[in-house]
Amino acid sequence: MEQVQAYNENLHLPYQQLPTKKQKKIKIYCQEYGHRDQKVEYISLTPESDVVKSRLQCIKCINGPYSHFRQDVAILKEILSDSLNVLKNTQFQGNLCQEFSNLYHYLNLDVTKDDIEFKFATLKKEIVYQIEECKKEVLKSYDEYYQIKEKIEISDFREIFNFEDLKKELYKYAQKGPNPSPRDQKQINDQLNEYVKKLHAKEQDKQQERLQTQFEKFKKKVNEFTQKNCFHYYKIDQGMESIQKIIKEMKTTFSQNLFTQSELSNDFITDVLTTINQKVYSETSNVEKITPIYSSIHEGLNYKIMLEKLKGEGKSDLLFIFKSSNSQRFGAYIASDNSSGNLRTTNPPLPQPMNRATPLVNQRSFLFSLSKKEIYPIKQGATSLNINQAANDNSELLNFGNNDLNIKSTFKQCKSQLNSGFNTSNYQIGNYEMHLANALEFEIIALQIFKIPQETQK
Ligand SMILES: [Zn+2]
Repeated sequence: MEQVQAYNENLHLPYQQLPTKKQKKIKIYCQEYGHRDQKVEYISLTPESDVVKSRLQCIKCINGPYSHFRQDVAILKEILSDSLNVLKNTQFQGNLCQEFSNLYHYLNLDVTKDDIEFKFATLKKEIVYQIEECKKEVLKSYDEYYQIKEKIEISDFREIFNFEDLKKELYKYAQKGPNPSPRDQKQINDQLNEYVKKLHAKEQDKQQERLQTQFEKFKKKVNEFTQKNCFHYYKIDQGMESIQKIIKEMKTTFSQNLFTQSELSNDFITDVLTTINQKVYSETSNVEKITPIYSSIHEGLNYKIMLEKLKGEGKSDLLFIFKSSNSQRFGAYIASDNSSGNLRTTNPPLPQPMNRATPLVNQRSFLFSLSKKEIYPIKQGATSLNINQAANDNSELLNFGNNDLNIKSTFKQCKSQLNSGFNTSNYQIGNYEMHLANALEFEIIALQIFKIPQETQK
């Protein structure tokens, strides 16, 4: 047992001991009152120099006095290892350095070969450890389970099933070579007949009653022992199949992103675009015709700019891509009223409101998650998007479906209630409010809106 313990410890080597990772460290103590025991871990990059007393900050600083500026910090050890990391975690709007940094980090060029080696070394150890733990658990359950075989009385059945005598006869028969005499053939056949007859004993048999009683006892004991748990041995192979699928997915780490205009997209965007139109967006040249309308990365995250850009696009088919502060990427394709998608409304209502509702021939709008690789088609009769043109500094801005994705003008405290206007039945979702952004309330840190050319859709 001790040996097993030592083995597992080895699997959990601290990161520093792995040959490929050398952590950059520097020991500076925070000078803020009451923080003298804390090491400086951040550098504040807030543009105004008079709002922060010291640019060298510790965890207590960014949780306490400088919590308003916690989005504006660089992580010290990240800059020490590469100065291009300085704006990696910030989102300064309208700043060219930030724009460059976003694109640079989107490309993940700060990842080194050593980082990849380290990642896989960790992964390997973790997988071996998990498999080892899994084996232990299965063996433990099986030990308990196996008692059924040892403790439950099945002697009467054992007697009927007993093939031992026949086995000897069969061996003897086999020794007689490829052409046994008719007499031998008949003899072995008679013996087998006798055996088969026992297996099919008549119900009125006296022995049958005894078997019935023993079988009932057996069933009762099985239930007692297992409490209806069953040994689903196939699950081990099934698990392996899933692991192979996941590894196959991991191999696509470097893969095509056709939609180069969107720094927020990932490889799943191909599925999103072909869901809009399979024929058109299988061709790269058509993907390039999708035109950007608004990008917070280039123009700043601002609801007024966004609404201004959307003003002339009432009849356009739109593609929204969001990134939340916890790195979830999701979005929506909103087909316009005249392309037989679902209705889109704008508040306050226009002079002639929605009574021009055309029959919903084809429901084309959908919500999607790039991170989870899922697509949620719109429900029959649901409104795809409600744009609040009258939004102020703290109000609702965009409502996709029926609060399936609700974006505020502050882009903070946004919410999602999936499966209201958009259908999620293709997926197993535990919590409709948490699923899309992995949080009940979330902040949007980036948004891009594109126009899908209508002439290429038919
Ligand atoms: Zn501090």
